[in-house]
Amino acid sequence: MTTYTSYDLVEFGKPLVARQRPMPEPAGTQVLLRVRRSGVCHSDLHIAEGFFDLGEEGKLRMEDRGMVLPLALGHEILGEVIAAGPEAGDAPIGETMLVHPWIGCGDCRACNEGCENECTRMRALGVFRDGGYATHVLVDHPKFLIDVEGLDLDTVPPYSCSGVTVYNALKKVGQLHEGEWLAVMGAGGLGLNAVGIARAIGYERIVSVDIDERKLQAAAEMGADAVLNGGRDDALEELRRITGNQLLGVVDTVGAPSTSRLAIHALIKMGRYIVVGLYGGDLKMPLPWLPQKYLTIRGSYVGSCRDLRELIALVKTGKVKEIPVSSRPLSEVSQTLDDLKAGKITGRVVLTTE
Ligand SMILES: [Zn+2]
Ligand SMILES: [Zn+2]
Repeated sequence: MTTYTSYDLVEFGKPLVARQRPMPEPAGTQVLLRVRRSGVCHSDLHIAEGFFDLGEEGKLRMEDRGMVLPLALGHEILGEVIAAGPEAGDAPIGETMLVHPWIGCGDCRACNEGCENECTRMRALGVFRDGGYATHVLVDHPKFLIDVEGLDLDTVPPYSCSGVTVYNALKKVGQLHEGEWLAVMGAGGLGLNAVGIARAIGYERIVSVDIDERKLQAAAEMGADAVLNGGRDDALEELRRITGNQLLGVVDTVGAPSTSRLAIHALIKMGRYIVVGLYGGDLKMPLPWLPQKYLTIRGSYVGSCRDLRELIALVKTGKVKEIPVSSRPLSEVSQTLDDLKAGKITGRVVLTTE
């Protein structure tokens, strides 16, 4: 029997375990990919721990959301298509494609309109079904594969999660007027991508906020006009000074009480606060500010396959500066998650099978 190697989460809160599994046969419209690269995303830490911190509401447990172990995590997947089911049409056998992992139920209003990230019964790869921390992965349909020909294999995988997440969030910020500022909270994988993509789509005044000077340095190299250490006692005054009190948009890639507090206080009238980070905790603010400051507070979750195609088309123009990526063998996935948790990683680690 042919087998493949899968680095499975067997128990929440425990290291991943390398297991041999029988090689799957693609059925129906499915395609089988040989994984070539797999990005390591911060949300895998929460998933591996088994919960999200809902502040005063307690914890959101992954098992209550329908996650069943053992499971291969990993949702930033680039692989070579090696086999296709009988109904997969003309699947691009032999080609290396980026996977859109945010797959929905396939049978609801959101899914039928191609907004699968809005589906309430998501079956995302690497979250509810086996993902890319393995040598092979099954994908439901060739329509979830995106051609990345000509792009660097090491830098492409993060676009399918951190890239598309911030791209979608920036769409929700919308256009700013001359002189108005965008702040990006956090300068991890998401935050750096946000700076690079915001720059590529025309944002002119971008300030990056983080508590780690090395990450702020990386944000400056990605094109941020200003950086701010959010841990400073006078961070709020400093943010107002940097932006000339013209902060109109915030993309929060952290989503912590501290970043939300800074954002809500620094945004001026008509400000838009878009949260994509899942750090956890509670949002507290004076309610009258919503009407008085005419604030928009909005969440955004990953992106649709259409968003990802648009983003990859933008990347192909060469306008998006690539985030720093370091490469490690797939077998080091568990150690990499530990390093990510310890804050030791700048940019992204992309695992390779080659
Ligand atoms: Zn992710
Ligand atoms: Zn659906």
